[in-house]
Amino acid sequence: MKFLIFAEDSKNAGGIASKLRNSGNVHAIIMKDQVEASSSYGIKKIYGLTGKPFADNVAESITKLNPSSFDLLVISSTTLGREVAGIISAKEKLLCATEVFDFTLQNGKIVTKRFFYGGKTIMEEESEAKIITVTPGSFDPQNGEKTTEFEDIQLPQSKVNLIETKPKEKSSTNIEGANIIVSVGRGIGKKESIEKIMPLVEATHGELAGSRPVCLDYKWLSEERQVGLSGKKVKPKVYIALGISGQIQHIAGMRGSKIVVAVNKDKDAPIFQESDYGIVGDIFMVVPKLVEALKK
Ligand SMILES: Cc1cc2nc3c(=O)[nH]c(=O)nc-3n(C[C@H](O)[C@H](O)[C@H](O)COP(=O)(O)OP(=O)(O)OC[C@H]3O[C@@H](n4cnc5c(N)ncnc54)[C@H](O)[C@@H]3O)c2cc1C
Repeated sequence: MKFLIFAEDSKNAGGIASKLRNSGNVHAIIMKDQVEASSSYGIKKIYGLTGKPFADNVAESITKLNPSSFDLLVISSTTLGREVAGIISAKEKLLCATEVFDFTLQNGKIVTKRFFYGGKTIMEEESEAKIITVTPGSFDPQNGEKTTEFEDIQLPQSKVNLIETKPKEKSSTNIEGANIIVSVGRGIGKKESIEKIMPLVEATHGELAGSRPVCLDYKWLSEERQVGLSGKKVKPKVYIALGISGQIQHIAGMRGSKIVVAVNKDKDAPIFQESDYGIVGDIFMVVPKLVEALKK
């Protein structure tokens, strides 16, 4: 079998390649600056895109590689990736399954898994999809054979005329790659209370994250720290949820966590159903005790 990947970064290209490479030859089309970092994941041939990527010129470049000649086109589901998938699907009349987090290939068909009802259920579907968009971070990149074939592709002129770029205010956070996350919910009450949580973040060497009300509605934390369906999907070794009720849209973002510890004053809070360890109590009483215990 023959597969083509489009991902914007080496980690996702490597993750998808690691998933596919035992089933056939993997080719990948990625941004030129990611080519070197992507070359140790068993990808047979890497096409490096140069120029400014927009959905239309990336889709055009992928189309030139004749996606129909591949058994499957796997696209990392970023904002750009989703648009690219839509364009290619419509132009090439290839069925596309979106937001897939796992899949298997069986007798020329694909069985995809994706969350449904806001993450409450998993929908497993068999289809003849030839394009899938995969949620970033779904597969861990594992080293494989080094890539030996490379080709540069100059992106064609886009119909989009870029007038100005205003970078989002960036904080130095990377919750998607964090091993330990201390996540706060509406239960912290006000922005100033975050200071009281910081000793736990420091004692665990973790990253601070939050639920949607904290990051989006009240802006107590930056949007980049939001975990959930409409935020980041995280898979830390330990996820500590403080004053988070555990609504399904939040769970959708932290379900991949290995160990979940929840502190909530409501013993019936749904978060406890997702937790390995649960403490019923006031976070402002419990957090100092956790810090004390960790320091010992
Ligand atoms: C389309 C859509 C997308 C969404 N996407 C996301 C998303 O990406 N991420 C997300 O988080 N949400 C998302 N939501 C919102 C989600 O439905 C919930 O509203 C949200 O997760 C609730 O946040 P919370 O747990 O912080 O607040 P609440 O539900 O208000 O929970 C606060 C909790 O804190 C506890 N508490 C209060 N005080 C204390 C204290 N002193 N000590 C201990 N516990 C205390 C309470 O018992 C309660 O359980 C989305 C919703 C929709 C409709």
